[in-house]
Amino acid sequence: MLSKYTQLESEYNKESLTLKGTVLFIYDYKGYALECLYKLRIVVPNNFPAEWPLVYEVGGKVRKSFHVNATGSLCLGSSLRIQSILRPNPSLLNFIEKIVFPFLFSNEYFSIYRVTPFGELEHGGAGLYQDYQEILAITDINQIISFIEKLPNLYRGHSLCPCGSNKKLRNCHSSAVRDLLDVPSKALKSELCNLKDFSRSITGLAR
Ligand SMILES: [Zn+2]
Ligand SMILES: [Zn+2]
Repeated sequence: MLSKYTQLESEYNKESLTLKGTVLFIYDYKGYALECLYKLRIVVPNNFPAEWPLVYEVGGKVRKSFHVNATGSLCLGSSLRIQSILRPNPSLLNFIEKIVFPFLFSNEYFSIYRVTPFGELEHGGAGLYQDYQEILAITDINQIISFIEKLPNLYRGHSLCPCGSNKKLRNCHSSAVRDLLDVPSKALKSELCNLKDFSRSITGLAR
C-alpha cells in the first residue's frame, strides 16, 4: 500500500494506523478514464479486516451532500457490498482500490456531469435498501430485514435459507450469508437499524 502510494504518510498508534496525504490515480470505467487527485485521511484499525477503515476526504472535493456520513467519513456502500468485494482479497490495497477509488471516481464524474456513473446512488436507508435488493435479489424490505435478523441462528449449509424460499441455504443465498456473517457486527447492527427506520418511513408514507 505505502510502496504504491508514496505520497501517503503513516502514523501508528495503539488502535490504528492513519494514512494521510494525496493519492493520484486514473480510474477507467468502461473505457472512460478520469484522472483523480484526492487528499485523504484513512484510519485503518489494527484488526483490519475484522474491522474496516474509515476514510475521510480532506481536500474539500467531496461535498457533504454527496455520500458523506454524519461523522464525516465517506459512505462507501452497504457492508454486504463491501464484504463481497473484499472477500477474494481482504487487503488494504484492495479496500482502497476496489472500494475507495470507485467512490472517488464517482464523485469526480458527478462533479463534471451531474450524474453518477454507476446509476442512481441513494444515501442512508434508501441506499442500503437498494444495495441489499440488488445483491440479494429480494425486493421486499421486510424480507431483507428478517434475512439479516435470522443470521445469528444459522447453521451453515443445512439450514433453510433465511430468504424464505424453503430451499436449503447451500442451494440458495449461501455466498451472501457467508459475506454477511463476516461483516463486522457493529456495522451490521447499525445497518439493520437504518433499514428498519427506512422501512417504517416508507410504510408510513404509504398509509
Ligand atoms: Zn451514502
Ligand atoms: Zn435464499
